[in-house]
Amino acid sequence: MNKLITAYSYWKLLSWRKISNYSLLIASYRYSRWIKKPVLWGRPTTLSIEPTTSCNLRCPECPSGLRSFSRPTGMIQEDLFKKIIDDNGQYLTYLHLYFQGEPYLHPKFLDFVSYASQKKVFTATSTNAHYLTEENVEKTLNSGLKQLIVSMDGISQEVYQEYRIGGKLSKVQAGLSLLIHKRAERKSLYPRIILQFLVTGKNEHQLDGLKDWAKMMKVDELQLKTAQIYDFENGSELIPKNIKYSRYILGKNGKWELKKEIENKCWRMWQGSVITWDGRVVPCCFDKDGEHVMGQLTYQRLEDIWQNTKYIDFRTSLLRDRKEIEICKNCTT
Ligand code: SF4
Repeated sequence: MNKLITAYSYWKLLSWRKISNYSLLIASYRYSRWIKKPVLWGRPTTLSIEPTTSCNLRCPECPSGLRSFSRPTGMIQEDLFKKIIDDNGQYLTYLHLYFQGEPYLHPKFLDFVSYASQKKVFTATSTNAHYLTEENVEKTLNSGLKQLIVSMDGISQEVYQEYRIGGKLSKVQAGLSLLIHKRAERKSLYPRIILQFLVTGKNEHQLDGLKDWAKMMKVDELQLKTAQIYDFENGSELIPKNIKYSRYILGKNGKWELKKEIENKCWRMWQGSVITWDGRVVPCCFDKDGEHVMGQLTYQRLEDIWQNTKYIDFRTSLLRDRKEIEICKNCTT
């Protein structure tokens, strides 16, 4: 049901320009795979924009949480955000206002959502749900946000804080209840609320209880997500015992390896880009520290960056041998 309601709002925001651009991207992706050379016939249809790198939590597999970025940290300027939407909004079918950091820490975050919504862009975000205060809940409901992904990985404080270090489960629960209650009062369907549970070795025993918890909270969807582990070869206590929820399996040589076989393809490189708070364009959300900066939006246009030599070379390497690129080695896309 949630997928249908989300799809309805997605379709309502489509235009012929967006549909034809999307179709051209798919066609050029297929053609590129066939000739093994990157060809692009459209502009980005999805974008992730990072409101801020700041975060209130200290999650162990996240550079925001670990405060370990080598790239600059900060908050996106309003002018830059508006410029990106003004230049690209007419092609965008999906805008994820999230990359690293907690979006609600940006004082203008919900103004950004409103701005993009007014330009008829489908908006989504991801949050740890520690800032769903009365005021923020009202603003969220007014903003036009279509999808709110709440990251929550434990149904008891003890287990929750194993990964979400510094987090308070009671705060998440209170904020979510308030949002769901106020949304129902308004008889509104949006934002759709997805509870995203990162399954690790430390919380997998709570999966049965989680389903009841999600029902009790009346979230719209529960998604179980596998965890990406940076140094997985020698194993990690974060890798779940139930291999169904793991990206990795133990190989014959005693080393852990990716479960999924890597193929020399990646639709994401034809679909869209990720933009850091200071306007760097990076290929995807796996490039958390911005090792592959394709261009800089403070003085370049995305339209030009999208097909520049650096981007084309990156796509060429992907089609030739994905393992040549370090970030792609640990990616299950
Ligand atoms: S890490 Fe590589 S394969 Fe994975 S989404 Fe990014 S570009 Fe694609």
